[in-house]
Amino acid sequence: MEFRDLKTQYQENKRAIDSAMQEVLHDANFISGKQVVELEQQLADYVGVKHCISCANGTDALQLALMVWGIKEGDAVFVPDFTFFSTAEVISLTGATPIFVDVEEDTYNMSSDDLEKKIKATIQDNVLCEKVVIAVDLFGQPANYPRIREITDKYGLLLLEDGAQGFGGAIGDVRACSFGDISTTSFFPAKPLGCYGDGGAIFTDDDEWAELLKSYCVHGKGTDKYDNVRIGLNSRLDTIQAVILKEKLRIFKEFELEKVNQVAMHYTEHLREAKDIEIPIVSENFFSSWAQYTIILRDEETRDSLQIRLKENGIPSMIYYRKPMHSQGAFAKNLKAYGNCPVTERLCNRVLSLPMHPYLDEKDIKKICACIKEE
Ligand SMILES: *Cc1c(COP(=O)(O)O)cnc(C)c1O
Repeated sequence: MEFRDLKTQYQENKRAIDSAMQEVLHDANFISGKQVVELEQQLADYVGVKHCISCANGTDALQLALMVWGIKEGDAVFVPDFTFFSTAEVISLTGATPIFVDVEEDTYNMSSDDLEKKIKATIQDNVLCEKVVIAVDLFGQPANYPRIREITDKYGLLLLEDGAQGFGGAIGDVRACSFGDISTTSFFPAKPLGCYGDGGAIFTDDDEWAELLKSYCVHGKGTDKYDNVRIGLNSRLDTIQAVILKEKLRIFKEFELEKVNQVAMHYTEHLREAKDIEIPIVSENFFSSWAQYTIILRDEETRDSLQIRLKENGIPSMIYYRKPMHSQGAFAKNLKAYGNCPVTERLCNRVLSLPMHPYLDEKDIKKICACIKEE
C-alpha cells in the first residue's frame, strides 16, 4: 500500500502525460515555454484571482511574497506553530522574526484568538514592527479566513495564505489560494496538485505586486533578464513541469478532488465510532482538498504503537508534525515568544496521518480502519 499513490496516478494517465512531455522534448523549450503561461492562466482562472506567477517551489513562493512586501529585520511575521518548516523558514531568511501562533485543536489551523493575543503582545512590547500574518491551509482545509481577515484589517497587517497543502479547498464557493493579499501553493509531488519534481505558484489580484513578482523570480529583471534592477532569485517553473501540471490539473478537476473527499468520507464512516480516536473535522461551509487525513490518538505511546502495528500490516503512515516550530533548533537564536502554544504541543505528540490519495480503494480503507480499531 502507498501513502500517496503517484505510481497508479501515472499509469492511469500515462498516455496524456507522456505525449505532453514528448512535445517539450521535441521543441526543447525547457525554460519559459509558452505552456508555462498557459498553465498560469488556467490556475488563475481555477482559483479565481487575476494573476498567477509560477516559480520553482512553494518555499520560494512564500519568500518571493515577503520580498515584494519588503519584509526585513525588525519586522514581526505571525505564523502557526503547527506547520511545515518552510512557512517560518522564509521569515528568518528575510531577517524578520517569526512569532508563533497556536492552532485550533479541531481544524489544526491558526487560532484567531491566539493570533490577536500575540499581535497585542507584540504591539505592547514595542520591539518589533508587526507586518504580516501567514495563515496555512493545513492538511487541505482553508484556515478561518473570514475571522483572520477581520484581525489583519483591524491591525493593518498584510495577509499571506500558505496554500501549499490547500489547493482545491474552498470556503463556500471561494477557492483556496485566493484568500491572501498574496497566496501561494506548492506542486511538490505529494501535494494535492503535484508535478514530477519541484514547483510552486503565487496568486494575487494586485497588478503592481504581480509585476514585481515576475521580476523577483527572474534575477530581479528590468526590461529583460540582462537588465537587473533589483536583487532577486532564479525561481522558475520548468516547461516540463508545466505540461505535466496541465494534465494533472485536468484530472484534479474532473476526478481527483471529488475522489479524495469520498475517501475521507469513508474513513470517517469507519472511524466515527472508534474509541479514543478523534477524526478530522471540516468546518461548516468549508471544503478540504485532503492533503492529509490526520487522526488524533489518546497519547504519544498509543500513537507510536499504532504506527508500528500499521507498519507490521503493510500500512504506511506519517507523523505531521512531530515538533512544534518554536522548538526547532533553527529558530533558537531568533526566538521571540509571546506566550506558548499548548495545543500545538499536544497535537505533535498525538497526531497520525493515514494513507490518502484519489486511488485508495474501499478495501484498503477498510483494512486500515480495522487495524486501527483492533487493540
Ligand atoms: C510543502 C509545503 C511548503 C513548501 O513547499 P515546497 O514546494 O516543498 O518548497 C510550504 N508550506 C507548507 C505548509 C507545505 O506543506
